[in-house]
Amino acid sequence: MKENLLYERKNGFSGLDESTKAKINGFCDEYKDALSTAKTEREFCAMSVKLLEKAGFENLDEKKSLSAGDKVFCVNRGKSVLAFVIGTEPIKNGVNIVGAHIDSPRLDLKPWPLFEDSGIAFLKTHYYGGIRKYQWYNIPLALHGVVVKKDGTAINIVIGEDKNDPIFCIADLLPHLASKYNAQKLSEAFDAEKLNVIAGNIPFDDAEKEKVKHGIMKMISEKYGIYETDFMSSELELVPAFKARDLGFDRSMIAGYGHDDRVCAYTALRALADLKTPKRTAVCLLVDKEEVGSMGNTGMQSRNFENVLAKVCSLCEGSYSELVLRECLSNSECLSADVGAAFDPNFPEVFEKNNTPYINQGLLLTKYTGARGKSGSSDASAEFVAKIRNIFEENDVLWQTGELGRVDIGGGGTIAQFVANLDVDVIDCGVALLGMHSPNEIAGKFDVYMAYKGYKAFMNS
Ligand code: MN
Ligand code: MN
Repeated sequence: MKENLLYERKNGFSGLDESTKAKINGFCDEYKDALSTAKTEREFCAMSVKLLEKAGFENLDEKKSLSAGDKVFCVNRGKSVLAFVIGTEPIKNGVNIVGAHIDSPRLDLKPWPLFEDSGIAFLKTHYYGGIRKYQWYNIPLALHGVVVKKDGTAINIVIGEDKNDPIFCIADLLPHLASKYNAQKLSEAFDAEKLNVIAGNIPFDDAEKEKVKHGIMKMISEKYGIYETDFMSSELELVPAFKARDLGFDRSMIAGYGHDDRVCAYTALRALADLKTPKRTAVCLLVDKEEVGSMGNTGMQSRNFENVLAKVCSLCEGSYSELVLRECLSNSECLSADVGAAFDPNFPEVFEKNNTPYINQGLLLTKYTGARGKSGSSDASAEFVAKIRNIFEENDVLWQTGELGRVDIGGGGTIAQFVANLDVDVIDCGVALLGMHSPNEIAGKFDVYMAYKGYKAFMNS
């Protein structure tokens, strides 16, 4: 009685047996590898397909029918992926979806990026997602992405990850000359148009003007067979060049780029890949463009999910029925798997201590997101929250709850509202981070493992 009367917080590592600790570390080592190699939505998508194929998943395009136990995936434009394990119940009973996003804040190259000023070649960038600009100065950056030539040939580029590769960098002002900037507001001191990345310094002697720019373009052209106009049809992203590492004497955390939201994407993917045939069809949905409002044909606001689900319903039923698709959606449930902000004792003033998640205290359930008076939030029903918390407790998943900071301080959104618009029950459920949206975000290892366990329990329910 006394035990249940009051809610007590608990660090997941306290009293944890050695074999579970070893399992957590093993899982997190694999996660770190994924985080260190798949740093863009395209790379994460490709990595997901590899992982799924290894687990026996087949391309949906090659299937003529679907039945219980079948495992399929479908890629959307190389940047988003949907994977299904078909359950024993009829598809109209609905599906269990765990949906995460695989894009992260970063610096994109502008369509016309290369310029020279005072003998230094630079690349102009346009930041993507919410960043604090000063965090991107003087850190090693790697260039990842694709250039598509006029004839459709795609050239994949990764520079800065191999230890013999060069890296890129934005130079910050020295403190000796920064007094004027120190007195300015952060938003004014760090101008987005000054996020210019140093790209080189050797002049091409035969050129008449812009000799350094010429030299760089000549090198790029010789190595990749591309010209300056080809940048126009490219998607090149600058991301931190470092790898994900254990954090702390006790290695209880992981520091790395892109936990938001690849920590939820990876754990959801692994949960689905490790699933035996469930009762209800289980879905792992990994989308792009969440950081810019889930827009576009690879974001959650696209009809892609409905279109693919229509195909899956048809292949399960033997023919297309609009009613079956609509019933399937209405009966479906979803965990919007996204990260939250963990309490940071260095900045207690932006959190409300009771209703905030803490690092390594378990999987975070967030009933609603949004800003101010819950504006822009999808508020999960009490009934659905009860159902989810029961699944977690039945399956030994330590969970916690919390909002994103104090009321009226800020706020944020996820894909939850767009999934809810499809008439699906949805709640936000993910890992709480320190230093969220920074180039080196921090996740708790216990929480990472609870995400895997929690998502799997939900897919199986
Ligand atoms: Mn996110
Ligand atoms: Mn985010």
